[in-house]
Amino acid sequence: MGLLSQGSPLSWEETKRHADHVRRHGILQFLHIYHAVKDRHKDVLKWGDEVEYMLVSFDHENKKVQLVLSGEEVLETLQEKGERTNPNHPTLWRPEYGSYMIEGTPGQPYGGTMSEFNTVEDNMRKRRKEATSLLKENQALCTITSFPRLGCPGFTLPEFKPNPVEGGASKSLFFPDEAINRHPRFSTLTRNIRHRRGEKVVINVPIFKDKNTPSPFIETFPEDDEAGKASKPDHIYMDAMGFGMGNCCLQVTFQACSISEARYLYDQLATICPIVMALSAASPFYRGYVSDIDCRWGVISASVDDRTREERGLEPLKNNNYRISKSRYDSIDSYLSECGEKYNDIDLTIDKEIYEQLLKEGIDHLLAQHVAHLFIRDPLTLFEEKIHLDDANESDHFENIQSTNWQTMRFKPPPPNSDIGWRVEFRPMEVQLTDFENSAYVVFVVLLTRVILSYKLDFLIPLSKVDENMKVAQKRDAVLQGMFYFRKDICKAGGNAVVDGCGRTQHGAEPAAEYTLMSIDTIINGKEGVFPGLIPILNSYLENMEVDVDTRCSILNYLKLIKKRASGELMTVARWMREFIANHPDYKQDSVITDQMNYSLISKCNEIANELCECPELLGPAFRKVKYSGSKTDSPN
Ligand code: GLU
Ligand code: MG
Repeated sequence: MGLLSQGSPLSWEETKRHADHVRRHGILQFLHIYHAVKDRHKDVLKWGDEVEYMLVSFDHENKKVQLVLSGEEVLETLQEKGERTNPNHPTLWRPEYGSYMIEGTPGQPYGGTMSEFNTVEDNMRKRRKEATSLLKENQALCTITSFPRLGCPGFTLPEFKPNPVEGGASKSLFFPDEAINRHPRFSTLTRNIRHRRGEKVVINVPIFKDKNTPSPFIETFPEDDEAGKASKPDHIYMDAMGFGMGNCCLQVTFQACSISEARYLYDQLATICPIVMALSAASPFYRGYVSDIDCRWGVISASVDDRTREERGLEPLKNNNYRISKSRYDSIDSYLSECGEKYNDIDLTIDKEIYEQLLKEGIDHLLAQHVAHLFIRDPLTLFEEKIHLDDANESDHFENIQSTNWQTMRFKPPPPNSDIGWRVEFRPMEVQLTDFENSAYVVFVVLLTRVILSYKLDFLIPLSKVDENMKVAQKRDAVLQGMFYFRKDICKAGGNAVVDGCGRTQHGAEPAAEYTLMSIDTIINGKEGVFPGLIPILNSYLENMEVDVDTRCSILNYLKLIKKRASGELMTVARWMREFIANHPDYKQDSVITDQMNYSLISKCNEIANELCECPELLGPAFRKVKYSGSKTDSPN
């Protein structure tokens, strides 16, 4: 989840005192990097995925499943036996926000050849097997985006009662601090976000109104004034960073061949974020209730919203410098490539001094405003030992601000003195239950980048429309019900029209005519006379590529999954989970998910992930090439 420094974390008051220092030196560090590697090109495509996992424990007797707070120990063993023993170990492991979470990536990045697509799933299986082998009896490694009873009494093992006191990290009524990873970065982030904001974070997710759900649905918190005021009727109320950052996702990072290719990909993929997020929807349940959303995005966004009342526009500006329209975890606010410039239609708050400084240093307007926008934020954590750095050879202050701007896309300059190139990270996807699905989504996105570059595709639309798409994408069943703004003509150099510097045609057309509302089915699968569809484009690209039969077969299976999820022939994980709960014999149609129901659901998810049962409505007919049995549990139920 970002920069991990060791040392003594400072309080918010102390960190705030150093905020200008961190920003000033962060910019100097960025400039050093930029000047050293701005002309670097001919890097090759490399890429990697990140999968976040939860550790769960089944109590078969009492039909209960809990999150196990042993992430730190499991991680330590994974690193000890893996990367520290063998630099070529096939997996890498990192901590994540929850003490019940770990994050796994391939040991080495994948390269640019087609056959690499055939190794992704194997590597994900290795990760699952490796981590599972360290778990105790009745424990399992799950790739679920949000744990349905996160924040319900006794949701962790060992159990802890939340202790909502000022001296703690979250001060949550529901999420105990013991569920936060013990690395000081995570509790410090939690506490400093709350202190900077001046109150606890507030997350209100609309509840799904079933037949017997009380209407209005109102929760009372007699012992807590703050919660009483913050919670909204007909919403599920949550009050801690853990409700957001305690969720899991699937991310992909690409190395581009040059800075300009990275900027181009950053922009193009930004428009794809809401589409793929809706396609990957996997998080319909929060704090033991059925919600009316399918994706985690807005929940995490609210869970780390450190803006003060002034910055949120609720009070006149007095102590703060700007009104800020979004949380630190949100969609991007500006395109970075020249072609994107005319679609930058969102008001961009920037640090003007930093912007001017960057221009003076020879950085162009688009990149300068991007960085100056990221740098309106304060550092959230700072370690006493890490205040004074060597700006020419370190980048911690730059990374401090950069890595706490959790946006849909991240533009990543190379680390100082490394052979890594310019990279972009694609961050909106929800994690899927199986390695097959996760591979499918990852391969789909990576292939899309190949096609964007080879065919010089252009998906750009005004960024405000991408933001509207982000809102639609999180709604229940957005994949089938939602309509999304999408560019009609995605082939850049078309017809005999004058081609401008970006290769885009200039017919003098109104920008409004460039895009229209489409369903995800149309965007992904195409519609005669309306849009060619991303899958048909990928297929025609694949036809022209030399691909071995086995790899082709895997890729086709992956694309088939995406295609069918888009058309509704297969369900998203979110839809499948909703139906599982709706059909559960204990469900009272009151939007409540009990311990037993949660146990049945997570048991089923675990069986599916370990291929102990089929799930054709989610995955299609079984066609697995290799059988895997990495489960530590007896088949529950
Ligand atoms: N878990 C977060 C999410 O679901 C991402 C944390 C990270 O940036 O690694 O988006
Ligand atoms: Mg992560």
